[in-house]
Amino acid sequence: METKLLQNNKKDLQTAAELIKNGNIVGIPTETVYGLGANASDPEAVRKIFAAKGRPADNPLIVHLAEFSDAVKYTSSIPELAYKLAEHFCPGPLTIILPKNDRIPMVTSGGLDTVGIRIPSHPVMHRIIELSGCAIAAPSANTSGLPSCTSAEHVMKDMNGKISAVVDGGQSKFGVESTVIAIEGDDSVRILRPGCITKEMLEKYCAEVIVDHAVLDGLAENEKAASPGMKYKHYSPKADVIMIEGSLHDFTEYVARFDRDTTYSLIFTGEEKDFPYNCLTYGADSLEQAHYLFQRLRELDELGAERVFVRAPSAEGVGLAVYNRLIRAAGFEVIRI
Ligand code: AMP
Ligand code: MG
Repeated sequence: METKLLQNNKKDLQTAAELIKNGNIVGIPTETVYGLGANASDPEAVRKIFAAKGRPADNPLIVHLAEFSDAVKYTSSIPELAYKLAEHFCPGPLTIILPKNDRIPMVTSGGLDTVGIRIPSHPVMHRIIELSGCAIAAPSANTSGLPSCTSAEHVMKDMNGKISAVVDGGQSKFGVESTVIAIEGDDSVRILRPGCITKEMLEKYCAEVIVDHAVLDGLAENEKAASPGMKYKHYSPKADVIMIEGSLHDFTEYVARFDRDTTYSLIFTGEEKDFPYNCLTYGADSLEQAHYLFQRLRELDELGAERVFVRAPSAEGVGLAVYNRLIRAAGFEVIRI
């Protein structure tokens, strides 16, 4: 199949919306990362997403709507707290897990009786939802297991020939996927995947915000995942990724022992002037690190890196999202010096 590259103009957005309405899948920009969008209520279209990504069938897709008020059409009940959080954080990078109704087929929810609802703020995504008239199921647009896509070019790399089109909406603003939360009781939430809506931001509106232990520790053997995505290897470039906690001095000494041609380091912006080995930088603060992380992991593959040492980021605020993606890219391999 030929994959068309569409632009952010009236005609092309109409084309993208028509393709989705007619059961095809399209790469679309959002403020988090690029998604692979299809009509969430059309099981055949949704199956095409799983096939194109090579995604395990039990890993559910997030459903994107134009307004939170549309959530009543796809869910069986919505707690008060969900409305309160939506009022403060939607549109934006927050996904709320709610009980689904029959308009969300089991293939979309990965066999669960719940559905993750998100209201994206990206104007292109918003317009495509409106023009298509569909709830749009959209996982991250990468091949399963690889780093997520933060540009149309990355989507083309992974999906050329497998999907109908990609809409170029520029670089993704946040660069990591949405915060995924489940509501617990009347006034608490559990973070299943950290993102740019942080624990601290949610705490302003909830009695308690629990970070699921699998966010940082991974799952114990035979443990049931609170979110199916926790089970799978994610965000991995071809290179072996190893995260190192410690000072820049200790990091540099550690890295010095390895082959200089095939070893790369991912360090904080500003540190490169004192660092004598192959490296890329991924930002000076957590928001920048979120923005650049996946792009850098993809660049490291292009450079032919076989081994990548990463300076461990802060796990505070948005940093928790960055740390979570990196620890998974590293297969939970962390060296503490
Ligand atoms: P992605 O589609 O790549 O952004 O990944 C979506 C993430 O949200 C995966 O980790 C899913 O397991 C998780 N997710 C989506 N829907 C649900 C749900 N109904 N219950 C729990 N986790 C969900
Ligand atoms: Mg993903």
